[in-house]
Amino acid sequence: MAPQKDSNCIFCKVVDKQIPSKLVKESNDYVVIRDINPQAPTHVLIVPKQHVRNIAEFEDADALGRLFQVARDIANNEGLENGFRVVVNTGTDGGQTVDHLHIHVLGGRALGWPPG
Ligand code: AMP
Ligand code: ZN
Repeated sequence: MAPQKDSNCIFCKVVDKQIPSKLVKESNDYVVIRDINPQAPTHVLIVPKQHVRNIAEFEDADALGRLFQVARDIANNEGLENGFRVVVNTGTDGGQTVDHLHIHVLGGRALGWPPG
């Protein structure tokens, strides 16, 4: 079955290659792209092909777990052995600006805490 899409969604367009992106990896279920406005030397986004707004609306725990395994594998491939951060901004207060679930993987520098 083809993944669910939203024709007005930026990341659905990225998944469909209607918008160009720097593709790091692709599988049947997700793409990994470089963030257009990187906040660290490595800043990639894992974007499931299915249009789901965010983790608050994502029912498939196994699929969510697999996305976190991808995050770990990407961190390994990017040489982030000193550490990295996995971020899933969710909803307005969470600072989510693109309403299509995505997982940020950031690394390559010491990251501050707490976030703003
Ligand atoms: P969030 O604030 O968690 O919703 O993150 C959205 C992220 O998507 C931001 O870090 C943006 O820089 C990034 N972004 C937006 N449009 C694109 C795009 N076309 N290609 C790659 N990254 C994008
Ligand atoms: Zn979408």
